[in-house]
Amino acid sequence: MHRKLFIPGPTEVSPDVLEAMSQPLIGHRSSQASELGERISRKLAQLMETENLIVLSTSSGSGLMEGAVRCFTAKRAAVFSIGAFGERWYKMCRANGIAADIIRSPEGQATTPAQIEEALGTGSYDVITVTHNETATGVANNLAALAAVWSRYPDVVVCVDAVSSLGGDRIPCDELGIDCLITSSQKCIGLPPGLAVAAVSQKALERAETVPNRGLYFDYLELARFIRERGYQYPATPNISLYYALDHALDRMLEEGFSARYARHAAMAERVRDWARERFALFADPEHLSQTVTCIANTRGIDVGAMNRWLGTQGFQISDGYGALKGKTFRIAHMGWMDLEDIDELLATIDRWLDTEGVEA
Ligand SMILES: *Cc1c(COP(=O)(O)O)cnc(C)c1O
Repeated sequence: MHRKLFIPGPTEVSPDVLEAMSQPLIGHRSSQASELGERISRKLAQLMETENLIVLSTSSGSGLMEGAVRCFTAKRAAVFSIGAFGERWYKMCRANGIAADIIRSPEGQATTPAQIEEALGTGSYDVITVTHNETATGVANNLAALAAVWSRYPDVVVCVDAVSSLGGDRIPCDELGIDCLITSSQKCIGLPPGLAVAAVSQKALERAETVPNRGLYFDYLELARFIRERGYQYPATPNISLYYALDHALDRMLEEGFSARYARHAAMAERVRDWARERFALFADPEHLSQTVTCIANTRGIDVGAMNRWLGTQGFQISDGYGALKGKTFRIAHMGWMDLEDIDELLATIDRWLDTEGVEA
């Protein structure tokens, strides 16, 4: 039986998107490839609310995250971490020999404007990285509040991980002054994994020119040069099948309308939160709840693994807690192409388990 995915990536892919993927291939140096690349890039720019350069990468989002700290850090990076994915960005800095410091918020809490101010006020940093939506804890940073601080430091390149939120929550890239905004295909956009997207500013690209060892596959300068000189083409062979899927998915998003899409995500989030507050508790700071994934504190001490195995027999899958939060929390993703009806179906099924199997151990 197919298990409907309520996990924070990969998300459910609709049949029409899968069908769009199955079109015959075209050469990646053909004019058709350029047209397809251009079409996708223009629509992504609308979604990201940006005039910056759109860069596609045949990799998951982590590739463009690693490329960003590697290409844009000439001096030192300040990595603001609200959980697992901030830690990942810091590990990428370490693994590449990039000078970096990590500024951690307590688990379940957001990054504060004061933390950004304190770090940037030292003048030590020329790059900051921020996680918009921490998938492990269900915390969403208030980017507008943070941008009010970083916008006063125009020499700093601002990188934002929006892997689990872009497409489900509004992120007006240019208004927020984000220099590198990154997402992946398999979360809120609802495609199979394997494609990543970044919107990158001219300021960031100029910085990259001063950085000698940028690697090659994820070198934003090399990517930008190809896109500009070869008409939306790329140095290596891109995943054309996912391009087809993305082109189609973006058309569907435009049909739905971005604001309707965000409203749908907000309604699903509200529904899951109400349910979770009634039966358990929310793990995240109530002022910074994610619109795309809810992390639920396991206040009843249920066996999360057993619940998820049983849900599998009913055709559903949710996520256990991430890392050390396994068993202590569980997560329900409400992102991509699902709607309130899907959420209600899932919650009613979990209720059935709670009423029978899930009685306190
Ligand atoms: C999933 C996720 C990533 C990693 O993305 P990949 O596409 O798996 O490389 C990074 N950051 C956040 C917030 C995520 O949810």
